[in-house]
Amino acid sequence: MHKITIAIDGYSSTGKSTVAKELAKHMRYTYVDTGAMYRAVTYFAMTNNLIGDDHFDVVALVSKLNNVKISFKFNPIAGFAEVYLNGENIEKEIRTLEVSSYVSKVAAIPEVRYQLVKQQQQMGKDKGVVMDGRDIGTVVFPYAKLKIFMTASPEKRAKRRFDELIARGDNVTYKDVLKNVQERDYIDSHREDSPLRKAKDAIVIDNTGLTQEEQFKLILRLVERVFKS
Ligand code: C5P
Repeated sequence: MHKITIAIDGYSSTGKSTVAKELAKHMRYTYVDTGAMYRAVTYFAMTNNLIGDDHFDVVALVSKLNNVKISFKFNPIAGFAEVYLNGENIEKEIRTLEVSSYVSKVAAIPEVRYQLVKQQQQMGKDKGVVMDGRDIGTVVFPYAKLKIFMTASPEKRAKRRFDELIARGDNVTYKDVLKNVQERDYIDSHREDSPLRKAKDAIVIDNTGLTQEEQFKLILRLVERVFKS
């Protein structure tokens, strides 16, 4: 059977990566979490003291982008590919609320986007890929055969993210997580370069009231429809 490209875009914490991972596993496709790549650049900026609550040295970050080597390596125990920065596994480090609080600022820089989009297009050039992010259906793979745009209420999304962070042992409040979700929604959809938009041909899934299983089944039906057409 021929392979297709599946683009899953949408707001923060809509459960895109959970469903994308499950779908990729089911279809034996490669899953690419592009948010992890923007988080990795952010982590690089943080650990090099280029970004903080009161400073952000964009020029220095852009000049150092050549030193940022992002890769993915499949972890059979976790069941998905984890992200590495210059050879170091940073899968856990990039999921903190601190990284989340800076990542949208980093992702708004055109030079950062240019580098990462190039790498994403390379990763998906042979198709057979499920890629999730904010601009996959609009910029990275505008000809993807199936485009999904996921959304859910900010409160529902914040609750999901809050539960995840608490389960990891992070010390966060629901209020701060909700604020972060809303701030990222705003920056991601208002930036000049590749703002978060639904592609014209994307199918919207509002999963506020859907279980993971219902969501997965719905997406599988969409995949089947693409193959039949
Ligand atoms: O998907 P995740 O929440 O991990 O993404 C983190 C951030 O990375 C988003 O809030 C957004 O600012 C940025 N991002 C992006 N384009 C993508 C994927 C993520 O701008 N394709």
